[in-house]
Amino acid sequence: MKVLLSNIQRFSLQDGPGIRTTVFFKGCNLRCPWCSNPENILPYMEKYFDDVGEEKQFGFECSLGDLKEEILRDQVFYQGKGGVTYSGGEALLQVENFISLIKDLSQMKINQCVETSLMIPTKNLTMILPYVDEYIVDVKILNSDECKKIQGDLQIYLENLRILRAHKKEFTYRFPIVTGYTYTKQNIDALLELLKSYPPVKMEIFNIHNLAEKKYQMLGRRAFNNKELPDEILRNLQLKIENMGIEASIIKYA
Ligand code: SF4
Repeated sequence: MKVLLSNIQRFSLQDGPGIRTTVFFKGCNLRCPWCSNPENILPYMEKYFDDVGEEKQFGFECSLGDLKEEILRDQVFYQGKGGVTYSGGEALLQVENFISLIKDLSQMKINQCVETSLMIPTKNLTMILPYVDEYIVDVKILNSDECKKIQGDLQIYLENLRILRAHKKEFTYRFPIVTGYTYTKQNIDALLELLKSYPPVKMEIFNIHNLAEKKYQMLGRRAFNNKELPDEILRNLQLKIENMGIEASIIKYA
């Protein structure tokens, strides 16, 4: 069995607890205009030309054996806390192709984390629940009509959140600040309500940066230009969340 990946990043410190190997799956069912990983969206390999005009490719197929070997290369650094994080794109769209690896690593007591939009068929989520230890859940647009325009059916997201809670899974929310999309008064109010109904163990907030501009150029697509909000606004939001008794941090991507 093979999976389609775009990258395997070793020694990640921002994708779950401890030192982690982050596996980026290629292919996503959403089309967030602000996406910082546009090379991970389409579910097939894509050609592009680099700075010196050489033809390169985004995406590669990886056998489960090779992927397992790559993950275990850094086992010595995981030390109980760290492990592997499946990210993307949307890793859970390919879950049927690598559930055997998830089960295998679970038996070996390797800590496994999934970063997901949760906008996926519920069966893809229930399949991993007995084996995956950590969940990083995106939280974006929380108004049904607005969500439908950009991301799809909010009810699917809420149902999957309910299932995580019903299975007593702890999760971290990751909230991108995008002016006019996720950062509106209405959406922040809805976010604070969501935190009451489905409280996470932790919340990470971050400004969407424009660092992916070059990747958009290479792919021949137009980059989204986000107006980054001042740190003070992020700190205010952080404070509001902390006042609800939830640990919150601001992440900066270099
Ligand atoms: S869910 Fe993530 S990977 Fe998919 S389009 Fe949105 S930002 Fe990009």
